[in-house]
Amino acid sequence: MSEPTATAPARAYREGLDRGELRYQRCDHCEGAVFPPRVLCPDCGSQELTWERSAGRGTVYAATVVRGRDGARGVVLVDLDEGFRMMSRVDGIDPATVEIGTTVRFTAADEGDERVAAFMKEAQR
Ligand SMILES: [Zn+2]
Repeated sequence: MSEPTATAPARAYREGLDRGELRYQRCDHCEGAVFPPRVLCPDCGSQELTWERSAGRGTVYAATVVRGRDGARGVVLVDLDEGFRMMSRVDGIDPATVEIGTTVRFTAADEGDERVAAFMKEAQR
């Protein structure tokens, strides 16, 4: 039996992460950025979604610190320059220093045996 079609977008996304790429979809019909990956455009219902690679630059929209077994971890909502928003984690910086409006850059990080999206603080100029 073949895999349900609905799992295909998530798989394509994970394959991107394995290559160090942050992928999202853009709707060919309404040109909206689509994230998380899906089969239909949430705005217009079109199935014509094209994969694109994000440049990985974004701005923190919301930030919080989650305390777990491995210590404190920063969880953020990031607005990517291409026009989509995603929840992710921050790496390489004290989570307490992440603020709304902080400029961040995507990186692929290992989490257990999975690669996940993470964000690092953009170097200050
Ligand atoms: Zn659309």
